[in-house]
Amino acid sequence: MSLDKFFNPESVAIVGASRHEGKVGYEVLTNLIRAGYEGRIFPVNPNADTIEGLKCYATIESIGQTPDLVIIVVPAKIVPAVMKQCARVGVRSVIIVTAGFKEVGPEGGELAQQFTQIAKQAGIRVLGPNCLGVIVPANKLNASFGGDLPAEGSVGYISQSGALLSAILDMARANGIGFSKLVSIGNKADVNELDVMKVLGSDPDTKVIAGYLESIDHGDAFVKEAERISHNKPILLVKSGVTSAGARAVSSHTGSLAGTDAAYEALFERAGIIRCDSVKSQIGHIQAFDSQPLPKGLAIAVITNAGGAGIMAVDAIEQQCLNVARFSEETIDKLSANLPPAASWHNPIDVLCDAPPERFEFALDIVLDDPNVDVVLVLLTPQAMTQPIATAKAIVKITGRKNKKPVLAGFLGVGKVEEAIRILRDGKIPNYDSPQAAIMTIKAMTTYVKWCSRPKRVVKLFTVNRRKVEKIIKQHLALGTRQIGEAESREILQAYGFATPKSFNVTTADKAIDIAKQLGYPVVLKIWSPDIIHKSDVGGVAVGLNSPKEVMDAFDLMMYRIPKEMPAAEVLGVVVQEMCSGGREVILGMNRDKHCGPLMMFGMGGIMVEVLNDVSFYLAPLTAGEAKQMLLNTKTYQMLTGVRGEDGVDIDAIAEGLQRLSQLVTEFPQIQEIDINPYVVGPEGTTPIAVDARISLEKI
Ligand code: ADP
Ligand code: MG
Repeated sequence: MSLDKFFNPESVAIVGASRHEGKVGYEVLTNLIRAGYEGRIFPVNPNADTIEGLKCYATIESIGQTPDLVIIVVPAKIVPAVMKQCARVGVRSVIIVTAGFKEVGPEGGELAQQFTQIAKQAGIRVLGPNCLGVIVPANKLNASFGGDLPAEGSVGYISQSGALLSAILDMARANGIGFSKLVSIGNKADVNELDVMKVLGSDPDTKVIAGYLESIDHGDAFVKEAERISHNKPILLVKSGVTSAGARAVSSHTGSLAGTDAAYEALFERAGIIRCDSVKSQIGHIQAFDSQPLPKGLAIAVITNAGGAGIMAVDAIEQQCLNVARFSEETIDKLSANLPPAASWHNPIDVLCDAPPERFEFALDIVLDDPNVDVVLVLLTPQAMTQPIATAKAIVKITGRKNKKPVLAGFLGVGKVEEAIRILRDGKIPNYDSPQAAIMTIKAMTTYVKWCSRPKRVVKLFTVNRRKVEKIIKQHLALGTRQIGEAESREILQAYGFATPKSFNVTTADKAIDIAKQLGYPVVLKIWSPDIIHKSDVGGVAVGLNSPKEVMDAFDLMMYRIPKEMPAAEVLGVVVQEMCSGGREVILGMNRDKHCGPLMMFGMGGIMVEVLNDVSFYLAPLTAGEAKQMLLNTKTYQMLTGVRGEDGVDIDAIAEGLQRLSQLVTEFPQIQEIDINPYVVGPEGTTPIAVDARISLEKI
């Protein structure tokens, strides 16, 4: 159902409107009036005849017509009754500003369920509860208690926190940012970030989408939508709650290493979302995305009247893997002919401490023409001879004429540059309070440009034995078993094209010796128990056994020691396995994040994964390029390609393993976690072997 009436209603009723200053019901009403809203306003309050000169109604029903939008500010316990009234008169859009629902405990949760049920049955869309409301400056609609109507502009903002939104509004005002729509989604009883994202994505008045989110509800759908929108509009999000790794117990390496933040990070990367680490940096990014063209490349020219500021900028450029532009000969000739001899006409251009506005203007004019320059950063410190105001005016003048490349400013200081920064702001030049902050914004822009120009994602599909996996999974779920044992994990992997070591389960030492003979020495012995997850932790793995005697000793030791150490574990015998020597150990894994979806992991394998923590993540399904990138994102990669004369391993084979695993977890959403550790890889042309695997399921 359309959300249009939230943004463009012809009439608004405020249930709980109040005469008393300071009450939310008063603030919402007067905000609406003060903003100059042109539709009809119906205050609803049984204890008043008029409020602010408007006729007041006892109930929604007594209004005599159906308001397009109803804003509810009455106490939580009355909300279900008001929702019933809304349903009776055919209201379709309701904002619940009131707090005190699920965030206060079970009683509040119960109330929320009641009104949600009523709304659902009546086909009412609900924004909130516990939200600030909606603001649409172009429609003079301030259906919120967020203070004055902000300026009209092209930024659409979604906020999960109402209180933070009012701070954002204040910062935006100070930085000259205007909005198309602001939506506070609060507890998301109905309308959520995905709904608002869709509205902003197709809204012709919105050029930049920004938001503050604490959680994302339907990761899969959100990724798809955001990915589609990102091609046309940048999405800049602050996502908080980064350290809440989730309190659930995790048994897999992938699960314990991933945490929630890695999943969100991967989701954002897939969808082209630019993650901002603070509201302040978000405001900085928004300004540039809103007012500047996108850069065509990574080459930055820096113009400065302070050597130190220039050096800081260059450091930041290098740290962010951007380029310090190399000027063309023509640029150098012009600069050297016209700047004072003491100036530096190489990048960064030092126009010196006595630089008058004309010198800045001249340098900016020249570098904007240089085809080797993609972005310009102008830095100024207010020294004795500096004229910040005239310099700001000069920058605005030039960029008004030459507006094909982004120009950012860093006028450093406070009082002495205040007026100049205002001039820059009005002239649509974003200003940053440090060279680093400006470079971070440029980095965000170049990252976005790179994302937009990435090749179309093509996920390769391998020929696999899907039936077989289906059967194993079904059997397990029917029995209520969540962990898949070693032997069947191997079968699943084989069905998806993985090679596994020859393995046999035995119950006696004699049988173990028989099998070892068949396999050929050396062999590996492992404890066979459905209850032991990390076998080597309990002495349950013996590698490199070279003779019947060694096999016998290892068998006896395991069968004697392990049941003593773990009396609760059911020990069935041992697995005799072929030894895979000479390769390197990596880990391939997946952990299904409940918000973001199947999170693939790659890293250095073996029993030290957690200690080394050299892993990378990406959301499945993976393309070949993404699988390769996962390898490149780790330090392990360099070791795998061969260092100090050691031979490298077959990188493409690992990438293929990741893609096959990604296909498996995409085709079987019941798979909750999977670890292949170690995945033993050898030189180019050899087949990697999935030596050990653990798979766990969840009923869906
Ligand atoms: P767990 O992870 O339960 O401790 P693994 O089967 O992964 O048990 O074995 C632990 C380590 O022993 C592996 O990381 C690997 O170094 C070595 N290992 C196990 N099986 C083999 C094998 N078949 N060939 C070579 N090395 C092995
Ligand atoms: Mg293992």
